[in-house]
Amino acid sequence: MTDLIKRAVDDITAANHVVALTGAGISVESGIPPFRGKGGLWEKLDPMEFAHIDSFMRDPAKVWDILIREMKGVIDTAKPNDAHIALYRMQKLGKLQSVITQNVDGLHQSAGVADVIEFHGTFARQFCLKCGKTYETGMINLTQIPPTCECTGILRPDCVFFGEAIPENEMARSQVEASQCDLMLVIGTSAIVQPAAFMPVIARENGAKIIEINPEPTSLTNRISDYLIEGGAGSIMKQIADELEKAAGHAK
Ligand code: NAD
Ligand code: ZN
Repeated sequence: MTDLIKRAVDDITAANHVVALTGAGISVESGIPPFRGKGGLWEKLDPMEFAHIDSFMRDPAKVWDILIREMKGVIDTAKPNDAHIALYRMQKLGKLQSVITQNVDGLHQSAGVADVIEFHGTFARQFCLKCGKTYETGMINLTQIPPTCECTGILRPDCVFFGEAIPENEMARSQVEASQCDLMLVIGTSAIVQPAAFMPVIARENGAKIIEINPEPTSLTNRISDYLIEGGAGSIMKQIADELEKAAGHAK
């Protein structure tokens, strides 16, 4: 165990209200590419061309064909990895109150985490632009692009595109969690997309410790976070959960 992992275990043990803020990086080891960074989708695609709501409304077939088809392919079959499972293990120990996630892949819920705030909505569901009827993404057939509702309206994912507002309820709950926690784990996020990247700032202003887990420094490092544990989320989070369980076992 490295010194920083030991430090994180001690800090989590001492904390009363732990919240995790997660980004695309936590799902990389589940085979879902992030947007930014090495191997990210943005190496191939221009975000404003494909992930902006105006682009979708202008040409839904193009966005479905290039971006949504690719996301559906990976998300439909992805499974939680050690990092998602470690957060569930922390929850079972009473050491995790909630997860604020920017991800739309549903993997925290698949791992069993009870309180997941989906800041950017979910890709698990599509809804009809005309009548609002919802469909499970896994059930949608891509023989016709864009896929349509039985009413002929075009379907879109129930997630937040660039240019769209964060759902009110998720925004409010995240702010409450960020201001009430005394420790925030920031896992696998480049902390560039706002307002999600502001949650650690709120936490810090309210006196919380901020621990980052990421293979590389971000804009929070050395500024908002107390320390960065450098590396992949799976192995680091697994070591943290192992140590917390060991300590809980000894305490019995
Ligand atoms: P991002 O793509 O901007 O950044 C990913 C971060 O993860 C980087 O800082 C990178 O260094 C880090 N990372 C890479 N591999 C890692 C690993 N193994 N363990 C831990 N960290 C790792 O991601 P973002 O900050 O979440 O912002 C992108 C937006 O795109 C999000 O708001 C999200 O809505 C969306 N998105 C979601 C998914 C998903 O649901 N899985 C995937 C791609 C993008
Ligand atoms: Zn419809």
